[in-house]
Amino acid sequence: MPADDRNPPNAPDAAESADAMIRFDGVVKRFGDHLVLDHLDFTVDRGEKVTLIGPSGSGKTTILRLLMTLEKVTDGVIWVGGRPLSHQLRGDRLVPAKEKYLREVRKNIGMVFQQFNLFPNMTVLQNITEAPIHVLGRSRDEAVEHARSLLDTVGLSDKESAHPTQLSGGQQQRVAIARCLAMSPSVMLLDEVTSALDPELVDGVLSVLRDIAVTTDITMLIVTHEMRFAREVSDRVMMFDDGRIAEEGPPEQIFGDPREERTREFLKAIR
Ligand code: ADP
Repeated sequence: MPADDRNPPNAPDAAESADAMIRFDGVVKRFGDHLVLDHLDFTVDRGEKVTLIGPSGSGKTTILRLLMTLEKVTDGVIWVGGRPLSHQLRGDRLVPAKEKYLREVRKNIGMVFQQFNLFPNMTVLQNITEAPIHVLGRSRDEAVEHARSLLDTVGLSDKESAHPTQLSGGQQQRVAIARCLAMSPSVMLLDEVTSALDPELVDGVLSVLRDIAVTTDITMLIVTHEMRFAREVSDRVMMFDDGRIAEEGPPEQIFGDPREERTREFLKAIR
């Protein structure tokens, strides 16, 4: 059989990809000589909420950055919604993804960062409507209406004309969450979203996220040190160590009865 007629290597079969929203297939990530992700395989189902825990440097943020296409895989394939993300299909073959293809696939993926990353020169409303208008091509009226309903969801209806510098860190992070939701993503990535906040502002942000986790079918991948929150919202917890999954399971098991010594040590250290 000519090479071009083969199925793509490791292509998920149709039955499996029906439930899988994210699939890592033998994913390797190196920075120079440093092996950060070591042949990582996992899937996340549609609508599933998965928390990544593990010591600093174990590769959690790199996984989110790969999904945001802010980094490229060294080897292996990432699939999102049944389509390759790290690569694109040409006929039956997988070839490295081009920028135009990436722009299209990553419309489905939103990320909220530790440092908010709001546009400082725009109002809250402009921050939220910018991408829906310019990336998704929504009309201004439609984008504004959606933004207002999201501001209501995050409890900031009275702040639409404010600039980010006029808001507390917790309020800025809630705007960043609304901005992410405004793109109607299928996948939402949360990277330590409360780490930069003063302690008294953390609960307000977590409570908004808890509501989103419970009321939407968005697939969520969460990196957090807030173990109580992780326990409440996660369907599954994955414990990382040195670029590999050391242990995974439902939160009651990982937090209540961890099997691996590494997990026990990690949980003891952060409590
Ligand atoms: P975690 O989120 O679990 O703390 P990261 O994914 O941020 O871990 O980092 C994993 C490892 O990859 C760390 O050793 C980090 O120093 C390294 N790393 C991350 N990004 C880069 C980069 N852009 N260049 C070089 N090394 C990096």
